[in-house]
Amino acid sequence: MTDAILVLNAGSSSLKFAVYRDEADPQSPVLRGKIRGIGTAAIFTARDADGDPVPARAAMTPRPSASHGDLIPALLDWLESHLAGFTVTAAGHRVVHGGASHTGPARVSDAVLRDLDALIPLAPLHQPHNLAAVRCISASAPDLAQVVCFDTSFHRTQGRLAQMFALPRALSDLGIVRYGFHGLSYDYIAGVLPTFLGARAEGRVVVAHLGNGASLCAMKARQSVATTMGFTALDGLVMGQRCGALDPGVLLYLLEQKGMTPDRISQLLYHESGLLGVSGISNDMATLEKSAAPEAREAIDLFCYRAAGEIARLAAATGGLDAIVFTAGIGENSALVRDLICDQLGWMGVALNPDANARNATRIASDTSAVDVLVLPTDEERVIARATHRLIHGAPAHPG
Ligand code: AMP
Repeated sequence: MTDAILVLNAGSSSLKFAVYRDEADPQSPVLRGKIRGIGTAAIFTARDADGDPVPARAAMTPRPSASHGDLIPALLDWLESHLAGFTVTAAGHRVVHGGASHTGPARVSDAVLRDLDALIPLAPLHQPHNLAAVRCISASAPDLAQVVCFDTSFHRTQGRLAQMFALPRALSDLGIVRYGFHGLSYDYIAGVLPTFLGARAEGRVVVAHLGNGASLCAMKARQSVATTMGFTALDGLVMGQRCGALDPGVLLYLLEQKGMTPDRISQLLYHESGLLGVSGISNDMATLEKSAAPEAREAIDLFCYRAAGEIARLAAATGGLDAIVFTAGIGENSALVRDLICDQLGWMGVALNPDANARNATRIASDTSAVDVLVLPTDEERVIARATHRLIHGAPAHPG
């Protein structure tokens, strides 16, 4: 039997998983899958090492109303009987918030979990579900070693100014600072940059992680120097349902003049804004691109206007720009979004090759562009598998 690492990314209604060989730099998972519709109509899908779907007769069949608590032990049982030749010996989890103290992945302990519980109010959409998955494994498979990997850690290389709000010092001292997120994705991209940029990888790069959640990270020498998300994952860019950066005076107005409760405002900012709120149609970029409604196009235009403006702001933090990298669902697939963003950065010398852009090619800048522009798929699970291997075996950090 070969040892394997189970990587889990637990969301509010979905559980993504991937199984990797327990080795220093696993290339691709031996199995990956997803359970979605948790709590309402749970559906399981999985793909094997060749990317072929696991046939229905071999798939796990969750009860439609199953909760995370039911599904994780069931998934472990299913893996035990379906992972021919592999035994899962460790689990690595995506955890959105590691606060100021977690500058890298951590082995799970009671003290670590207590620390992470305290961060739930800062990431209410994700943190409770991430931690529930850890506890569920502790309860159902206590012998499994567990590691937590944080979306915030990658940004702890930032200087003090990049992390500060202009609030009274006492509040900064309480931890009300900019943490930044999507760090596992940025870590992966930082690792592969030399393959695509050579020595320029060590230069000034802005990575645009544009998915349902969206943010930018400015890197110098492949380390984060600035990012658009802040104290919570609400800040920065326009997102699927989140508003991104907002004048804080709007919140005061809604509270004081419109009588909105904090719960109502939270619902508005996290679930009813962004592409969905502006278009009134959908939070899904592909759907908006197909729509003829002017509101859909306006939502796309606002998304791109704000992203271009933020790329320019981050370029000030890096002192110029050698490359832009697009990644995640929108970044990897939407030629329109990349075109609209790069068009607004023409004054910085950014120019696209329209054919390459339309094909979602890896390198999409024109020959005359002063800035390289790349489209690179991200792989957060692989970063978690590597980190879990490293912590479990005490191996040195992978050079990537
Ligand atoms: P993610 O959160 O990374 O899975 O990204 C989800 C987002 O990517 C959604 O808004 C999708 O509509 C968007 N997306 C995926 N494929 C395409 C596509 N071909 N064109 C435009 N947007 C896409």
